[in-house]
Amino acid sequence: MASKPIIYKLILVGNTSVGKTSLFKKIISDEFSERNMSTIGVDRTTLYSDIEIKIKDKTEKHNFEIHLYDSAGQEQFRSITKSYFKQSDGILLLYDVTKRESFEQIKMWLDSLEESLGENNNSQYVVILLGNKIDLIDKKGNKEVSEEEAIEKCQESNFIWGGEISAKTFSKEELINKINIFIKELYKRLGPKKTGKQISKKLDEKKKKKKSCFFL
Ligand code: GDP
Ligand code: MG
Repeated sequence: MASKPIIYKLILVGNTSVGKTSLFKKIISDEFSERNMSTIGVDRTTLYSDIEIKIKDKTEKHNFEIHLYDSAGQEQFRSITKSYFKQSDGILLLYDVTKRESFEQIKMWLDSLEESLGENNNSQYVVILLGNKIDLIDKKGNKEVSEEEAIEKCQESNFIWGGEISAKTFSKEELINKINIFIKELYKRLGPKKTGKQISKKLDEKKKKKKSCFFL
């Protein structure tokens, strides 16, 4: 008998134009458009994955149902609804590798998420940082955020480093493979059910005795 799927909600967050909708669309249909896609309309898709997860010396097999959400342009007006953030398990936090500002505003996005969730919330989520538009990097040095800096940010904040990607040149398959790796990490950190407080917060409280970062 098939076991019940583990459901995780993943949301795309980040400055406008970093490529959230492009990434979303690539994952759904393997298509990319140079045009701005703020009017796409569809804002949620479901992905199904059977994943084997090695925990200590045991291998567990689980089926996951991933609800992936795109903010569908609401972020332009700083008007992301509470329901978008609510009960999310994974925050796919995107910045544009050619736009420093989009990296600097990571904190602003996490603050608005926390603000939306309200004080004393019991939310537990994992932040996955991704640098998009890596295809635009040329020899002239137009890269405004180095990978080292992004990794450092992940170490400081206990985010998962999702790597540098391109919604333009990466295939649907490559992106889904990445998402499956994120799901494994989410499962290791959150388990099948969410309990207690947000993990990053907890670690902050413990003054992060040990630095940790996940290289995927
Ligand atoms: P959003 O506002 O974060 O949803 O960003 P969009 O997905 O609408 O993308 C904004 C613009 O950046 C569009 O013109 C896209 O074609 C372009 N774009 C998005 N991702 C990439 C990428 O990986 N590489 C390149 N070259 N352009 C991209
Ligand atoms: Mg968009």
